[in-house]
Amino acid sequence: MDNNKSNWLKTIKNDQYIFRSDTVAKAYENLNSSAKGILLLIDSSGMLIRTVTDGDLRRLLLSGSSINDTLSLLTNQEPVVAGTEDSASDILTKMNRFQISQIPILSDEKKPIGIVYRQHIDNKILLSTPHMGDMEKTYVSKAFSTNWVAPIGPNLDAFEIELANKMQVRYAVAVSSGTAAIHLALKVLGVEANDIVFCSSFTFIASANPIIYLGAKPVFIDSDEDTWNMSPSALKRAFLDAESKGKLPKAVVVVNLYGQSANYQKICEICDHYQVAIVEDAAESLGATYNDRYSGTIGRIGIYSFNGNKIITTSGGGMLVTNEKELADKAKFLSTQAREPVPWYEHKEVGYNYRMSNILAGVGLGQLKVLDKRVEARRNVFERYVELLSNSPEIKWMPEANFGQSTRWLSTAQIDLPGINILLITKILLSHGIECRQVWKPLHLQPIFKKYKYFTHAKNGNSICDNLFKNGICLPSSSHLTIEQQRRVADSLKSAIKP
Ligand SMILES: *Cc1c(COP(=O)(O)O)cnc(C)c1O
Repeated sequence: MDNNKSNWLKTIKNDQYIFRSDTVAKAYENLNSSAKGILLLIDSSGMLIRTVTDGDLRRLLLSGSSINDTLSLLTNQEPVVAGTEDSASDILTKMNRFQISQIPILSDEKKPIGIVYRQHIDNKILLSTPHMGDMEKTYVSKAFSTNWVAPIGPNLDAFEIELANKMQVRYAVAVSSGTAAIHLALKVLGVEANDIVFCSSFTFIASANPIIYLGAKPVFIDSDEDTWNMSPSALKRAFLDAESKGKLPKAVVVVNLYGQSANYQKICEICDHYQVAIVEDAAESLGATYNDRYSGTIGRIGIYSFNGNKIITTSGGGMLVTNEKELADKAKFLSTQAREPVPWYEHKEVGYNYRMSNILAGVGLGQLKVLDKRVEARRNVFERYVELLSNSPEIKWMPEANFGQSTRWLSTAQIDLPGINILLITKILLSHGIECRQVWKPLHLQPIFKKYKYFTHAKNGNSICDNLFKNGICLPSSSHLTIEQQRRVADSLKSAIKP
């Protein structure tokens, strides 16, 4: 913890002070101009009455006040404050207890002399956290004010249309998660019990779980070294094996790992030859490109995720995209309980409750506006790590293939040292308040998937993704990471690999 108070005790700006005689409009104006998220309501002698946030003002308006009313309507509310003797650690404990991110510091006469903001004392650097833009609240408020608090509504329609336009794909169906989107994708492609589905091994478990939901059997495919994604040669051998046994897969789930597109030219060639559909798991690659197309639009169906840790988020959500109307219509139908288009409740098959809500679509609409910026920021984060760690040749960064741009969702590298213990390295960084992770543990190594077939990149059984798992690491990669935070990560990593 930082004992140097001048680093975290911030002065109060003039426009952070407001009085009972000020209007709600004035308070909003001051919140915007000071841009600190907190105002101090003081009395004529300068003593603190309470703090005022955006939420407080909104509640006032919702309870019937007008923007021209004065703040005399704000109730007295004991502010959470700290004293001049409190340490950074005392203050952080208080912030966590009250779930707040700013605390005014009062003098002995109860007059505010400064404010402490969480970002200056909370030293944890997280792996990948949400990064809101300017518009999300507007869309969400609109959903409230028009009472579209439902899994249908204008935000939902607009989110689908805008995402489809941006990705240059015909149809988009917004659902409750990326996993749900994969489930629906496989379902509309006709995957049934006992069918076979090929799937990248080097990925998050959500890529493969929907195969099991449908009672089908996954066959896992290794990565190649150039993309860390599905190895075309392993895929080829898996197809030859399936063909020799007289049972081809119904679909192939191809993952674009950490934002990097797989080698679709070769993968599509093979899948086209056997006329088997590709489901493109683009959960981590929204905004990436493959040649002149957007990632997620190469396969017959693509899926995106808006989970909290992804490039953009709706806190939780997903999207299925395709150029085939029939597939999109069927997915939408299944996502809303497979209700037949008749006036009463008529069902001829089993559906799911997978539709995204109109409120979350509002968050998505706002996030979509900043998607390009977020991708650019993540790519910049990666470039800065490369620069900061340029004197550490043992760090081998995840390659970027020449067929398009990765999102660099997570900055990922192999630590190329003999006898490396990557778990120990992540633990050391964690003890420095830095959240990092090993790369995905390959699915063919997962206890629940052990009984399924696996095809390695090399004929001799040498598995690429097993090796990547042994020494791969993901560094904090949020799009709002500061250069100071990145320096800390780089220094910490250097000290961990060369103790
Ligand atoms: C996050 C993720 C998913 C699942 O998305 P959810 O929205 O969390 O269900 C699927 N595949 C990959 C590769 C992911 O990273």
